[in-house]
Amino acid sequence: MKLWKKMLLGLSLGTVVGMLLGERAIYLKPIGTVFLGLLNMLVVLLVFSSMTVGVTSINDVRKLGRVGLKTLLLYMGTTAIAIGLGLMAAKLINPGTGIALAHDQISLNIDETPEFLHIFLNLVPSNPIGSLANGNILQVIVFSIFLGLGINFAGEKGLPVARVLESLSEVMFSMTGMVMNLAPYGIFAIMAWVAGTFGIGILYPLLKLVFAHYITCIFHLVLVYGGILFFLLKLRVGPFFKGMTDAITLAASTTSSSASLPATLHCVEENLGVSKNIASFVLPLGSTINMNGTAIFQGIAAVFISQAYGIDLGWQNLAVIVVTATLSAVGCAGIPGGGIVTLSIVLGSVGLPLEGIAIVAGIDRLRDIIGTVINVLGDGVVALYVAKSEGELDLEQYNSGEYISYEHGKPASTVTEAP
Ligand code: ASP
Repeated sequence: MKLWKKMLLGLSLGTVVGMLLGERAIYLKPIGTVFLGLLNMLVVLLVFSSMTVGVTSINDVRKLGRVGLKTLLLYMGTTAIAIGLGLMAAKLINPGTGIALAHDQISLNIDETPEFLHIFLNLVPSNPIGSLANGNILQVIVFSIFLGLGINFAGEKGLPVARVLESLSEVMFSMTGMVMNLAPYGIFAIMAWVAGTFGIGILYPLLKLVFAHYITCIFHLVLVYGGILFFLLKLRVGPFFKGMTDAITLAASTTSSSASLPATLHCVEENLGVSKNIASFVLPLGSTINMNGTAIFQGIAAVFISQAYGIDLGWQNLAVIVVTATLSAVGCAGIPGGGIVTLSIVLGSVGLPLEGIAIVAGIDRLRDIIGTVINVLGDGVVALYVAKSEGELDLEQYNSGEYISYEHGKPASTVTEAP
C-alpha cells in the first residue's frame, strides 16, 4: 500500500481506536512522541545540507550578482506573501477552533516572544557548531548560505566539501524516507490519543484545514503568479499552464520538487522559451529553496495548532511566523513531507506544542499534492521573470502554442543539447 494511503489509514484507525479506548488511549501517546522525536532528529542536518547544496548550485560566480539577487528576492518575496495569505485564510476560516487540546507542557507568554530586532540580531551565529548542536535552525540557515558561497568562491579546492555535503543531503533525504515510513504508526498513536481524549470532533477541523490550504493555494496561484505573469511580465497566462503541464503532473504525483526538477527544466526551456542559461540557474535553486505552497501550509498549520490549543497569537507572533516560515520554507527539502519536518521550526519560534505536527501530519499528503504543484509553478514564474528582465526569453516560443512533451527520465539538457 502507498505510504500516503497508510498515513490516511493511520489517521482514521487512530481516531476509531481512540474513540473506543477513551481516556486509556493516553498509553498510545509515547509511540507518537517517539515519531516526533525522529522527525526532530532530522531537521538540523537536513536543513544544513540541503540549504548549502542549494546555494552551491549557483556555481558560476558571475551569476551571483544581479541575476542571483533578483532570483533570491523574488523567491523570498513570494514566499513571504504566501505565508501572509496562509495566515489570513486561517484567521478567516478558523480551522482549529473548538478542538480545545490541552497544552500542559507549554505556556505561551507574549512578552517572552523574541522581538523582531532580537531575531534579526540573533540570526548570525557566533559559533556555527554551537548552532548545529543547539538546533538553532535560523542560525544554521545563515551559516549554510555563507558556507555555500564560500564553497563556490573556493573553486576547485571547495569541491570536496561540496561533494560531502551533497552526499550528506542525499543521506538525509533517505533518512527522511525511513522516518516517513513510520509516520502511519506515529499518526495512529497521536490520533488515538487525541480522539480518546477530545472526541471525534477533531476530524471536521482537519477537513477545514485542508480546505483552507487548497483555497489559499488557488488564490496565490491566481493572484500572485497570475499577477506577475499578466501585469509585470505582460504575458498571456494560458501558455504558461499549458507549457508546465508535465511538471504539474509530476509534482502532483511525486509531491517532490526535486524529483520534478528534470520535467520543470524541460517545460521551462522547451515550452516557455526561457534560455538554458537562466533555467539551469534559477530552477535547481528554486527546487531547494522556493516553496510557496509549503509556506502557505506552514502559516495555516501554525494558526490551526494555536487555535486547537487555545493559544492566542498576537501580531508580534504572526510577524515572527512570517519570518521563520519564510526561512523554514527556504530550508525545507524538496521531498515528500519535507514541510512537515521543518514545521517544527515555525511552531518552536512562537512556543506552540510540537504534538500539533502529528495531528496535521495525518493530512500531509493531501496538502502536499497542491503544495508541491504551487512550489514548482513558482519556480517557473520566477524563471520567466528573470529571463524576460535579462532579455533571455524567447517570446515567439512562449506564444507559439507548440509544446514538446517531457519524456520521463530525459532531463532537459539531454533534449536540448546538440549531439
Ligand atoms: N513536498 C514539497 C516539495 O517537494 C515540500 C513540502 O512541502 O513538504 O516541494
